[in-house]
Amino acid sequence: VPKSSDPITIDIQPFDGIPDEAVQYVTKELRQLYSRVTVKPALPLPASAFYAARNRYRADSLINFLNRLALPRHVVIGLTDQDIRCTKNKVADWGVMGLGFCPGQASIASTFRLSKKERLQQLFKVAIHELGHTQGLPHCAVKTCYMRDAEGGNPTDEEKDFCKDCKAVLIKKDWLFN
Ligand SMILES: [Zn+2]
Ligand SMILES: [Zn+2]
Repeated sequence: VPKSSDPITIDIQPFDGIPDEAVQYVTKELRQLYSRVTVKPALPLPASAFYAARNRYRADSLINFLNRLALPRHVVIGLTDQDIRCTKNKVADWGVMGLGFCPGQASIASTFRLSKKERLQQLFKVAIHELGHTQGLPHCAVKTCYMRDAEGGNPTDEEKDFCKDCKAVLIKKDWLFN
């Protein structure tokens, strides 16, 4: 039985269609920051999250699905190659690179809007951003910080690390930085 003092485990949950190469890259990069990372076998995308009229998935439905799978003291990052959408500022169908509960136990990152050239590194940066939200981190004004607000674009190539303040929050939550 997990105790409330146990460090959090990050579970990577691939969805069918995401290349193994992408899962392995995100796993390797996450493990450089955080030692307790597990990789789950791939699952089919839940039909309940499919928005058939627009041929895309609801990001909020996907994180609800992942939240139900999350064990105590675990956080889940789902990885998908599909177009994911959510409602933002009254726009009902806003395309996103990722989404995470803030705070919560589930998040999702998608390769769909990422640039071909730096796709794997960008996927890692979206994943770490959404995981930051699950730990309660809000958006950050530091341009090189993983918690920068994408503001509808893709600034991930400018992101280098968590800034000092964001890192301090995660260290309090027992994140083990090298
Ligand atoms: Zn965000
Ligand atoms: Zn920051």
